Amino acid sequence: MTMRIAVLSGDGIGREIMPQAIGVLREVETIFGHHFELLEGLVGGAAIDAVEEPLPKDTLDLAKQSDAVLLGAVGGPKWENLPYHQRPERALLGLREHLGLFANLRPARMYSALVDASTLKPEVVDGIDILVVRELTGGIYFGKPKGIEPTPTGQRGFNTEVYTTEEIVRIAEVAFEAARKRRRLVTSVDKANVLESSELWRRVVTEVHERYPDVELRHMYVDNCAMQLVRNPKQFDVIVTTNMFGDILSDEAAMLTGSIGMLPSASLGSSVGMYEPIHGSAPDIAGQNIANPVGMIASVAMMLTYSFDLRKEADAIEQAIERTLTRGYRTQDIAGPGTRVVGTREMGEAICRELRADA
Ligand code: NAD
Repeated sequence: MTMRIAVLSGDGIGREIMPQAIGVLREVETIFGHHFELLEGLVGGAAIDAVEEPLPKDTLDLAKQSDAVLLGAVGGPKWENLPYHQRPERALLGLREHLGLFANLRPARMYSALVDASTLKPEVVDGIDILVVRELTGGIYFGKPKGIEPTPTGQRGFNTEVYTTEEIVRIAEVAFEAARKRRRLVTSVDKANVLESSELWRRVVTEVHERYPDVELRHMYVDNCAMQLVRNPKQFDVIVTTNMFGDILSDEAAMLTGSIGMLPSASLGSSVGMYEPIHGSAPDIAGQNIANPVGMIASVAMMLTYSFDLRKEADAIEQAIERTLTRGYRTQDIAGPGTRVVGTREMGEAICRELRADA
């Protein structure tokens, strides 16, 4: 089977971490006997410089015709003063919209070697492995009516939290399916004690759950979840929630693990999934071979799991990352006493070596 992957490196450190991800993918190809067809496209500032638009039609067509999209990062000071609709970041919204990506998956996994990098006590965070499934295209960020309007005494600003049955069903399905690839526990987070939209959310998630009897479902109010994430994060496997609650909780969960450079993400919806690290193009460190490539490499592991169901291969990557860290290899952002600080390329090569050693 040939798997077609659109490779969109983008800007800044995106161009430095993507080659490391490709190196890992090529190793997987050799070790496990697969064939990945990698097709490069322009996106973000790089595309603006070349053809004066952040998401050229060629790139969008390439993404649509691929099985999965690997994205580095977009943006940078060079393009900051362009009008909003011409900025590099518009490419992300365009890709999400045209690929129908309504589910954002953000894992927060603690690598044992890095427990000291967290602001929480090691015994609280050691071993956490959480997946936040956030609804991405509905809820209060898109609901209507919205606006700011005059009142006799001043102004009023308003937004609408709205979810349809269909929107809740499809995100719940993503969460239950993801749980089947993990520890089979879903916590659905809402505010059903106050919001009608949450009341419907809870009811529909419970109905969808009937089709997944092998997965355990728990419900939790969002305020309690925010507290439980710092009190006892190990109780969670998959968290599924609305756009706004997910925006907040996924950042909270990410910070449990320490560095922004370590974390991958997946956006799913139609047949094409998109995979990218959670960080941006980091212009402050771009071009210096010091960016952490682990979030990008872990995004490859997510792609293998969710787009190609190659879980053995994904596990091999995760374990190679873990062993590389245990051997003391660190990029600057996660360096600590007694560790060996290496550059972006060296970190990528070290992870490839671990992959080969295990084969
Ligand atoms: P950022 O995530 O790029 O950087 C925040 C901080 O984290 C910086 O100090 C950076 O050096 C550090 N950092 C980020 N990734 C790192 C890595 N892999 N290794 C080591 N350190 C890392 O966020 P920002 O500075 O707010 O944004 C910079 C640009 O990226 C902006 O143009 C922004 O719009 C864009 N952006 C793009 C995406 C995306 O492409 N998905 C996401 C967020 C921001």
